[in-house]
Amino acid sequence: MTSEKTQNCSMCNRWKSDEALRIMEFRLSYLVLNRDQFFPGYCLLFTKQHATELFHLEQKARQELMEEVSRVACVLSGLFKADKINYELLGNMVPHIHWHLVPRLRHDPLWPRPVWAEPHQELLLTDEEYRQRSAAIRQALEAV
Ligand SMILES: [Zn+2]
Repeated sequence: MTSEKTQNCSMCNRWKSDEALRIMEFRLSYLVLNRDQFFPGYCLLFTKQHATELFHLEQKARQELMEEVSRVACVLSGLFKADKINYELLGNMVPHIHWHLVPRLRHDPLWPRPVWAEPHQELLLTDEEYRQRSAAIRQALEAV
């Protein structure tokens, strides 16, 4: 679907935008690493289709999408030794279904509050570090 909406949507264009952050293409969604890695393993999973609400999807697609989300969450939990995975699906700023999947640790500075509870210094990696982290997540996903 190409419309004014999708052309102006940053999430619709995100998969193409930064190769180093790409992790995996699923049937219904894409998974990328979040540029800010203050919370190690912080990923974004977003639908290929431009949709703003889960209830806009067909039931079967919604169920399959939840399986993709859960598969990623399970892998992130193991890889980053998370005490809890946070799933954040807001879409106020970017109204295209996307989850912030964040491995949380009991000793992280914002625990137990949401990652957005207060500002933090962004942690940016080099392209090589992004590629290594993306590859580690990809390999773990392929092994499931
Ligand atoms: Zn979109």
